[in-house]
Amino acid sequence: MQVTHTAQVVSSTFVSKGILLITCKLLKPTVLDFKAGQYLAVFLPDDEDKQSYYSIASSPNLANHIELLVKEDTLGAGANYLFSLKAGDEARFAMPMGEAFLREESRHNIVFVAGASGASYVRSMIHYLDETNQLLDREVYYFLGAQEEDELLEVEPMVALAAKYANFHFIPALSGAVTWEGETGLITEVIDRLMTNDLKHWDVYSAGSSAMVEAVADVLIDKKGLQAKQFYSDFYSPE
Ligand SMILES: Cc1cc2nc3c(=O)[nH]c(=O)nc-3n(C[C@H](O)[C@H](O)[C@H](O)COP(=O)(O)OP(=O)(O)OC[C@H]3O[C@@H](n4cnc5c(N)ncnc54)[C@H](O)[C@@H]3O)c2cc1C
Repeated sequence: MQVTHTAQVVSSTFVSKGILLITCKLLKPTVLDFKAGQYLAVFLPDDEDKQSYYSIASSPNLANHIELLVKEDTLGAGANYLFSLKAGDEARFAMPMGEAFLREESRHNIVFVAGASGASYVRSMIHYLDETNQLLDREVYYFLGAQEEDELLEVEPMVALAAKYANFHFIPALSGAVTWEGETGLITEVIDRLMTNDLKHWDVYSAGSSAMVEAVADVLIDKKGLQAKQFYSDFYSPE
């Protein structure tokens, strides 16, 4: 059931080029009920009929708090509003929303694919899997695509997780880089190069532009044997 929360901004800091990490403490109600991978609607104070949608970037295990990663959009009403918030300001959110949440009952291996700020959707699920020891016994690949290196979100924590778990593979890839030692090309090309052709028993979660998510679904389903019902995204449904 969706609930409207009043929350107070605790902090707002840049974590990469044009991306703010906003941490909010829930004031009323304080009890959180969402699944990793869901999103919320922000109510805009100047226009109660307008809502803007943001993935909940934090894990459901974070008590009484939520984190959002917000990309700068100087023409966007929601982005402008969230960028204007300072510590101590109050905001209202309706949550939870979305069907592309982590299927905890599945024991399948997992591929996460995010384009730029789509990383906020994946962040919640990976933190949750780490906290609940679910990265120990399955293969997990995380492909994060961007054009330039400074658009990649929170690389260090993911590199640290890849060092902690032998079967967690973090693959940042750039499509516009000149000097970069990592993977290059469109994220679909990188996935095609690196993933096995036998993804029949894998789950995939993806966020980014609709065009990117659709192209990712096409590669995984048509070339890699993924079952369409195991592709989860709130941006595109292949079924
Ligand atoms: C499920 C879901 C999850 C999402 N999660 C995130 C997330 O975690 N982080 C994130 O940053 N974004 C996320 N988004 C995207 C986000 O909701 C918005 O697309 C983005 O922030 C802009 O919304 P807004 O309300 O600010 O823009 P709106 O005011 O609704 O405008 C929509 C778009 O039109 C453009 N626009 C407005 N006026 C003009 C004009 N005059 N000329 C040209 N263009 C114009 C704006 O720049 C904007 O991009 C998510 C979207 C969905 C659907």
